[in-house]
Amino acid sequence: MAGHDHSHDNCSLSQKETGSLVEAMVEELRSLGFRRTGALVDLLRAMMLRHLPFTLAELSEIPALRDRDQATIYRLVTKLKEVGKVRQLNLAGRVSHFQLVVPGHHHDYLLCECCGTVTEVPLACTLAKVEQQIMADFGWKSLRHELEFFGVCPACTE
Ligand SMILES: [Zn+2]
Ligand SMILES: [Zn+2]
Ligand SMILES: [Zn+2]
Repeated sequence: MAGHDHSHDNCSLSQKETGSLVEAMVEELRSLGFRRTGALVDLLRAMMLRHLPFTLAELSEIPALRDRDQATIYRLVTKLKEVGKVRQLNLAGRVSHFQLVVPGHHHDYLLCECCGTVTEVPLACTLAKVEQQIMADFGWKSLRHELEFFGVCPACTE
């Protein structure tokens, strides 16, 4: 999957793809001390299938998670963030968004400081070249980046 271009909105995965990615992630998490619980599997599936940035409120509205204990979901999201599987997008004075980090996928985001919406950058990311140059010229290895642009969205500009 490396190099696969996922730089547009609605990067959703098939059920099958989601299933195997979730299984692989659960195995990796078990080696990090996580227990395989129904809540963990349901949460990973939901955040994988449409791996958009979700607020905790949005997560709790996903049908598969609606009947789960909200404190459990919150605790799992926090633990996943601690081991680098969930990325947190912060906007001053707004609730945070959380996104599952999917291997081989790259997403940069636009955050509106006016209404708080988070959207994916609608252009292919060209920074791989910059990363390669830094690695070649300055001896860095395994470079990656996560970008957040802050500004005012078109709807708020009207
Ligand atoms: Zn993706
Ligand atoms: Zn806005
Ligand atoms: Zn990028």
